[in-house]
Amino acid sequence: MTTPPKSDTYFIGIELCGTKLRAATVDNEGVIRERREEPLEAENLIAQIARVVKDLQQGANNIGAVGIAIPGLVNRQTDRVIASNYLSGPVRENLHEEAMKATGLRVELENDANAAAYGEYKIGAGRGSKDLFYISIGDGIGGAIILDGKLWIGASGLAGEVGHITIDTEGAECICGNTGCWRRSLPRQTSCAGPASG
Ligand SMILES: [Zn+2]
Repeated sequence: MTTPPKSDTYFIGIELCGTKLRAATVDNEGVIRERREEPLEAENLIAQIARVVKDLQQGANNIGAVGIAIPGLVNRQTDRVIASNYLSGPVRENLHEEAMKATGLRVELENDANAAAYGEYKIGAGRGSKDLFYISIGDGIGGAIILDGKLWIGASGLAGEVGHITIDTEGAECICGNTGCWRRSLPRQTSCAGPASG
């Protein structure tokens, strides 16, 4: 690839997807410049994120921020990962703060379905629309709502999480604390929904 001009700001998107870590550098238009994919080092996640970010900075050193798509529930008010099947408690606890410290960059955490929905809204299937409902079927079921160009997270911060609708009151316990959530009805997989591309 060609080295971008230093005056342009780029962004790094990271998806923690089941057993994989996917990362990409994108420009202001959402065009992907570089990609990385490697096995997820769940117990060594901060160091892995820092290494991948540093590696991508070789190709674009003016990085405005890093966005991390979390396979789990995220409280955007507190920047905390509330629950995740893939990230242990100690890793979840200070992921936001530790990732900022390790990369030296602004970091935003977002639920993976919300992040994917926003990607589709900006540069994918939802381009040109103001309102969008997104549903992902990969390792579980996720959903997100965009209304008038904004992610609709509701009072709970979890609006659009259709995977956590109870469909079996006798069902297994879910990471959200409910039982019989829709997302639990799928067989466990290690795949994940594909990203939007511009
Ligand atoms: Zn649930």
